[in-house]
Amino acid sequence: MDCESLRSYLVDYQHGRLGPELRRDMDAHLEGCEACAHERAADAALAEALDRRLAHRRAPASLTARVERLLAVERAAPRPRAWRRALIPALAPALAAW
Ligand SMILES: [Zn+2]
Repeated sequence: MDCESLRSYLVDYQHGRLGPELRRDMDAHLEGCEACAHERAADAALAEALDRRLAHRRAPASLTARVERLLAVERAAPRPRAWRRALIPALAPALAAW
């Protein structure tokens, strides 16, 4: 496994969503690659900080309603990821204002 591949799976790795073989490959790479081990530690620290912060905050009702509307549209007519590209910039200011 190379660094690019490892980093593409890092979020799933952090959340325990990988199969045992892929997880073993990642563990082996992380043992020998200081850069990826650092990346993993940074991601874990960020995820932990977000979990702590978000656990005490509720999303504004308008944001929740907007996300639910977008999800309803997605479920009704699945499209390739186009709504996600629009959703992230639309939600960023609201999330940053928390
Ligand atoms: Zn690496």
